[in-house]
Parts: sequence; structure tokens; C-alpha cells
Amino acid sequence: MGEISKESKRRFIVIMGPAILVNLLFMLTLSNDVRRWVVTVTYILAMIVFVIWSIMSINKGERNKEGLMEDSGCVFCDIVHKRADSYMITQNEYTTTFLDSGPIAEGHMLVVPNKHVITMDQLDDRKAADELMQSIIGAAQLLVKAGVCSDYSILQDSGEHAEQDIKHVHFHIIPRHANDHVQFNLQTNSDAQKEEIMRNIYNKLKTTNGGL
Ligand SMILES: [Zn+2]
Repeated sequence: MGEISKESKRRFIVIMGPAILVNLLFMLTLSNDVRRWVVTVTYILAMIVFVIWSIMSINKGERNKEGLMEDSGCVFCDIVHKRADSYMITQNEYTTTFLDSGPIAEGHMLVVPNKHVITMDQLDDRKAADELMQSIIGAAQLLVKAGVCSDYSILQDSGEHAEQDIKHVHFHIIPRHANDHVQFNLQTNSDAQKEEIMRNIYNKLKTTNGGL
């Protein structure tokens, strides 16, 4: 289980907010004993409504197959769970592959893990990670086999400064052709290339435990 979802917090506020307001109004008009009674009953009722609403949402599919909460505003979760239309190419227990709705080339596909995770480093399930890589390779093989292209670029942005647009891990598989004018502008950073900096970052990475 991850943290409490935004949707759960919103529901809690929607239900408990009015409950608190109602209680405050009653407080001003009622005697001590009645006040205590009204406060208790109102809070119990509000909690019951909150729990029932949450359980109903879970049954509607707000949890994915791994039992983790989705981000309710996530368009890729909507596509994975077929609440939104897409040109879905393939789907298995772990991943979904579909055409990018804003393609920069014909056949531009996206491969996403079914589980809602925002950045790559949050993908800590080795099996899911292996499946993701297999689906990425599978998407590339499909493009080649279908004769869409023989060359392609694979792009993944994680985090705000990497200009990640949709906050759900996704890989772009982009067909490439001669003179297609697609540019990623990867340029060497001459500071990062300096011997001392290279040695420092190398030592830091070599002495840190982590990763799958
Ligand atoms: Zn999502």
C-alpha cells in the first residue's frame, strides 16, 4: 500500500467538513448533554459514509491488480483500466502499449507499467521492471516487423526538470526516418565532462548501494 491518495483526502474533506460545520452550528443552540449526543452521532454517520464511499470506489476499480491506489486524475491509469479510449496495441498483467495521441511520427507508441508510479526510480518491483523492458523491446520489434520503420528512438522523462508531462512512467517508442527533423538536442556538458567531476561522480555512484 502506498500513501493515502488525493481522492481519499478529498473525500474525507468533503464529508467531514460539512459534519464539523453542522456540529458547530448545533453547539450554539443546544444544551450540553444534547450537544455531546449530536456530535457523536454526526461523526459516526460521516465516518460510515466515508467508508462506504471508499469501498464502492474500490469495487469500481480504483485499485489496480497489485492492490495499489491509482492517481484518480491520471490519463494513463484511465487508459490502462479502459476508462478512456485509446488505440491500445497490447496489454498484459504488467504493461500496456498504445499509440501516443499526440504522435511526433506515424506509429509513435507509448509503453507504460499498469501500476501507477510517477518516476522510474519508484519502479521497485523487479518482475514488473523486467516485464516493462520486454514490452519496450516488443513494441520496437512490432514497429519493425509491421514495416513501420527500421529505426526508432526510445525516450523516457522522469520528473519535472526532465520535462515529464504525464506523471505516470512512460516510454516513447518513436519511429525515425531520413530527414524527419525530430531532434532531441543531446549536447555534451563540458563541465560534467571534466576529469575531476567525472572521478567524483564515479566514486559517489560506485560507493552507493541501491538499484534493482
Ligand atoms: Zn497513472
